[in-house]
Amino acid sequence: MTTVAFIGLGRMGHGMAGRYLDAGFSVAIWNRSKAKAEDLITRGARWAASPADAADGADAVVTMVADDGASRAVWLGNDGAATTMKSGTLAIECSTVSYQHALELSRELRGRGFVYVDSPVTGLPDAAAAGRLTLLVGAEPADLEQARPYLAPLSTTIRHFGAVGSGTVYKLINNLMGAIQIAGIAEGLAIAEQAGLDMKLVLEAIETGVAASPQVIRHSKRMAERNFADATFTAALRQKDAAYAVALAESLLSAPPIMGRAAVQSYDRAKAYAPDDDEGKMIEIVSRPK
Ligand code: NAP
Repeated sequence: MTTVAFIGLGRMGHGMAGRYLDAGFSVAIWNRSKAKAEDLITRGARWAASPADAADGADAVVTMVADDGASRAVWLGNDGAATTMKSGTLAIECSTVSYQHALELSRELRGRGFVYVDSPVTGLPDAAAAGRLTLLVGAEPADLEQARPYLAPLSTTIRHFGAVGSGTVYKLINNLMGAIQIAGIAEGLAIAEQAGLDMKLVLEAIETGVAASPQVIRHSKRMAERNFADATFTAALRQKDAAYAVALAESLLSAPPIMGRAAVQSYDRAKAYAPDDDEGKMIEIVSRPK
């Protein structure tokens, strides 16, 4: 049976690992904290003692962890996956990492004889659990073909942007544009609230107006209602993505990325306020009256 090692069982990774079980793969799982793995173990996954143990004997290793540091640890640490993977094994990084890290990790893993696929994702945790993600791939065409059977259970759409790192470039610009939008919504709604506008009317106008996007509609409603019960994407993770995107912008552009830097500042504040809560909670800081 085809074996997948899945590492990182957070909001996204937990659902993604479950997709491999649903699709009939043999699945070895590892997460820094074991509690998140219990129901997957009940469903038939093998709990591994470390990323290295999970990767031992796997045909593909898929990771979905927070950031560059976590990615480095699970692939390249002392008990990282790379220590036990056999030559030719697929290494699929789905976490949102920096462009620099994607290139360095690829160089390191390819140097050890593995096949590296850069595959950050878009879609919320419910899409991850339902196999409805969009995958943003950077890979050699032949490597993508080899990876397709392992990408299929996760996704409805695969966008191949080009060489390794190009999927991460797109993911970072996507999330930077999102960060700018969401920080802007918080300020716009806060002004409307403090000016005493009827917020039901404001939401209706936003939804049908030219500034609307699926993201604007979703976040404006949640922010206006202060409805953050089911955190889907945290302030800390969005701050990380915006900061990685701004670093990339600074490496490529002569003009300073002033919009991106402003978004990072907004998310610095949101992260300091409630790092592990939903990113929309930034409205609580922004809307305090003068
Ligand atoms: P999450 O719920 O916060 O989960 C983060 C995962 O990373 C957990 O498994 C966590 O382990 C692990 N981790 C953190 N630091 C680690 C370290 N130093 N060593 C090993 N493992 C570590 O985050 P998420 O929402 O699932 O996001 C995961 C990735 O997907 C991120 O790169 C994020 O930017 C990206 N993403 C998220 C969404 C979304 O809507 N949530 C959408 C698209 C992409 P513990 O469980 O032990 O803490």
